[in-house]
Amino acid sequence: MPTYEYSCKQCGYTFEAMQNMHEPPVAVCPQCGATPHRIVSGGIGIIYKGSGFYATDTKSAPASVPDAAPVKTESASSG
Ligand SMILES: [Zn+2]
Repeated sequence: MPTYEYSCKQCGYTFEAMQNMHEPPVAVCPQCGATPHRIVSGGIGIIYKGSGFYATDTKSAPASVPDAAPVKTESASSG
């Protein structure tokens, strides 16, 4: 469960509230009853650096090559 940090500008009270993501933000300051604003910290976040991200294929590819594969033969004739 993520912890959200709130700061009340009315009384300057700062507190944390553990709530689910689907829960509405805290609308009442426990100190004065005003509406606090949620502090968005950079703790939780996804930062994409570089030229895009790539997905790594973890599936195991078959290493055996079928013998019945059509082989293109080149008839190298000298002369
Ligand atoms: Zn307050």
